[in-house]
Amino acid sequence: MNLILLGPPGAGKGTQAKRLQDTHGIAQISTGDMLRAEVATGTPVGKEAKAVMEAGELVSDDIIVRMLASRVSQPDCAKGFILDGFPRTVPQAQALDHMLVDTQLKLNVVIELKVDDSALVDRIAGRFTCAKCGEGYHDSFKPTAKAGICDACGGTEFIRRADDNRETVVARLDAYHRQTAPILPHYAAKGILRSVDGMADIDVVAKQIDAILTQVG
Ligand code: AMP
Repeated sequence: MNLILLGPPGAGKGTQAKRLQDTHGIAQISTGDMLRAEVATGTPVGKEAKAVMEAGELVSDDIIVRMLASRVSQPDCAKGFILDGFPRTVPQAQALDHMLVDTQLKLNVVIELKVDDSALVDRIAGRFTCAKCGEGYHDSFKPTAKAGICDACGGTEFIRRADDNRETVVARLDAYHRQTAPILPHYAAKGILRSVDGMADIDVVAKQIDAILTQVG
């Protein structure tokens, strides 16, 4: 099963992708996570991407497509993959089409998480993750049960993304509407686009996604 989770920043793509990775054994491929790893280790790609990401803009299609092409061929993708944060532009969607033909892989479904813009700034500005296990939290919507201690692993260090602040979120939302939303018709025309209500509770969204995967699987 190969699928794309599509939606604006803060829609819950990462949360749902992680869950699907655990429940279905398919690999989550987050181009954002891959780029953050490049930035953290100071690679040439990371050096080029850092300022662009901090401004809330999109990294060049060339870099992203090259990064993704080598990732989908890795062994953990044998059972399938969930693309989280890719494609983000029409040229990236076209490059993915070619990649799928070349590798004889099929894209089963594209699931759009629909969320009101007004909810996204608050969702993103308060989020943080456990540095040890990656569990996601939110200052208001999902705080840790005990202050400063991860519910999942007991870790005491947490990470806030450099681009998860109110100013950058506005630029990221703008990039989504200008550059990413135009790829929705690309997949609608192929008859593989489905939408779920991303405003609903995490578990409710997960159930909606499961129902779609059962239908298309
Ligand atoms: P994300 O973790 O998906 O929210 O991505 C964080 C940032 O990484 C984005 O705001 C972009 O600057 C960059 N990025 C991630 N994925 C892509 C992509 N497919 N194309 C271009 N830039 C990307």
